[in-house]
Amino acid sequence: MATMDALILSSPEKPRQLEIVTVPIPEIKEDQVLIKGHEIVGVISQIGAAVHGFSVGDRCVADNTILCEACFYCRRGQHVLCENFESLGVTMAGGFAGYVAIQSKKVYKIKNLTDEEATLVEPASCAIHGLDKLNPAVGVEALIFGAGPTGIILAQLLKLNGASKVVIAANKGIKTQIARQLEAGDEYIELDRNDPSSQWNRMKEEYKHGFDVVIEATGSEMVANRALDFVRRGGSLMVYGVYSNSDLVHWSPAKIFQDEIKIIGSFAQTHCFPRAVAYLDSGKIKVKGMVTDVFSIKDFDKALEKMKSKSACKVALKP
Ligand SMILES: [Zn+2]
Repeated sequence: MATMDALILSSPEKPRQLEIVTVPIPEIKEDQVLIKGHEIVGVISQIGAAVHGFSVGDRCVADNTILCEACFYCRRGQHVLCENFESLGVTMAGGFAGYVAIQSKKVYKIKNLTDEEATLVEPASCAIHGLDKLNPAVGVEALIFGAGPTGIILAQLLKLNGASKVVIAANKGIKTQIARQLEAGDEYIELDRNDPSSQWNRMKEEYKHGFDVVIEATGSEMVANRALDFVRRGGSLMVYGVYSNSDLVHWSPAKIFQDEIKIIGSFAQTHCFPRAVAYLDSGKIKVKGMVTDVFSIKDFDKALEKMKSKSACKVALKP
């Protein structure tokens, strides 16, 4: 039996504990293809009998979401809210293995992206869902907190979808540098990681009327608390970071009421891969250089350390 190394969660109760296991290469069902690669980017190596439109050797990315199609929300067509939402490689073993068997309806061909660049299709899909929810009007002025892969992609999406100005405010470092290289925003503000109060004060003076759209994409409780201050009357705040469950915000309901502010949450995505592939593979959304580090899955502990070190933009894993 052919085997492969796979990175899996040690137990569902300990989301941050991972281990490498040797498992059989999966056998495909008739509607599946077998992809050899990593982070569900790779080359098709086997095709099920009922699959059309793919050939062995096609380079592709796969949508890792698994929806139950049977819960309260799925039955209402609100798939992103599925009560049994699973992601290959996140809530179950999958993407971080040498081979993955996946339904061909979840698979999209890529032509121009490198394998590393193609790992950004998934975050881009989530960003597209975010923009769908935000539904920005023509000519909006936007402020994005955070210059991780998500912030950089959201900034470019906003520019491509009618924003007249996109300001990126993020900690000084490699992520902001990459955002500048890719011309993701129109203006950049470098925040002091420990005490950004002087930059915040300057921003309040410089952008007196705030922004139509503010996106909190840092996952920092402190920034989430402050972000509402930069929303213009009638504007929207999108909460887009990954936060600890214990984080809390202390916002003025009077401001939300008087200024008619809309607060929007956005989490994950479904059915956004086709648009993400189109934007990235065409080069309209630039992702070159965003993968700063590639590690073997055997070195996943080093990869996690690198992510925590704040000296990486996107870390990719390879079998
Ligand atoms: Zn469901």
